[in-house]
Amino acid sequence: MTSVSRSLLLRVVCGALIGGALSGCREAPSAATPPGHTISGSTMGTYYRVSLPALPEGMQKAALQASLDSKLDRIDALMSTYRDDSEVSRFNQSRETTWFPVSIDTATVVTAALDVFAESNGAFDITVAPLVNLWGFGPGDREEKIPDNQQIQDLLETIGSRHLEVRLEPPALRKHKEALQIDLSGIAKGFAVDALATELENLGLRNYLVDIGGEMRAAGHKKNQTPWNIAIERPTANQHGIQTTLPLRDIAIATSGDYRNCFDVDGQRYSHEIDPRNGHPIRHQLVSVTVLDSSCMRADAWATALIVLGPDRGKALAERSGLPVFLIVNAEPDFEEIESSAFAVLPHSP
Ligand code: ADP
Ligand code: MG
Repeated sequence: MTSVSRSLLLRVVCGALIGGALSGCREAPSAATPPGHTISGSTMGTYYRVSLPALPEGMQKAALQASLDSKLDRIDALMSTYRDDSEVSRFNQSRETTWFPVSIDTATVVTAALDVFAESNGAFDITVAPLVNLWGFGPGDREEKIPDNQQIQDLLETIGSRHLEVRLEPPALRKHKEALQIDLSGIAKGFAVDALATELENLGLRNYLVDIGGEMRAAGHKKNQTPWNIAIERPTANQHGIQTTLPLRDIAIATSGDYRNCFDVDGQRYSHEIDPRNGHPIRHQLVSVTVLDSSCMRADAWATALIVLGPDRGKALAERSGLPVFLIVNAEPDFEEIESSAFAVLPHSP
């Protein structure tokens, strides 16, 4: 089971490789929905899909697609660790500990990442990159084996977002350790969703759904004036089912799970969510975290942070953060659903 994706993110199902709509959270199929327009394609090792009840005034679908594709290509070219020449890869290759000039986009994403690092007590940590690679979830070939413990301990010594600085004016990054590397895969898709949404807003659109690999932003309504209906996937590795659905308007939503990009050895699941405290993939019963926020970038990072923290600390921080959060805990034979207070007051689908 390997993927040859050369861009930012990849998703592989445990036990099977499937492409396309591998979202942790997808729009629920609804026979009553008028079709409207859909623009879709591939980006960052996954799919993207933009749904619109109407196209911008005087604009052809092909022109809109070209404009969205060029936005996505630019973000991938800046932030992908699957391209040796991306801005992030060049920063990772550099051994300089002086300021490294980057685009405002990369500096914006790193600023948000460092905020969530601080707010999550280090659970969300983009400097976890060498451990992501060691466990086979980075750009190299996936070996599906458990790394040597000494290697894990050695790499743990080299990581930590406290050794990373960012500034916006002029935009630049600075590492305090020569070997420090970053991986924006846990936040860049959310940034890209926001970037497409901004583009659509600039074109005068107020009704749209942007979905990049399950991270989404919904605005306004569908063609029939009803809110976008978003499904949160049932966290099972080999099946696609729906746990619950939410009518959403003017909000972003992101899901992290341990059940898609992972491998199994001797009945133990090893997922791409790495706990920076011990250098290992998460190992607990919290299997899916969905976060809502006005910023998809922050929702994306928070979902990763909370799934790393696990059921107890994740639940406590979800509540303290004041964010709408939906947690799914494996309570075999079934799943237990936990809603933060801010989530519980949202409108739910009947
Ligand atoms: P997905 O990419 O499937 O939507 P996430 O948003 O949770 O899932 O991002 C997971 C990715 O983030 C991993 O594949 C890895 O590249 C990176 N990552 C893993 N652990 C962490 C962590 N503790 N903090 C930040 N990024 C992480
Ligand atoms: Mg994330």
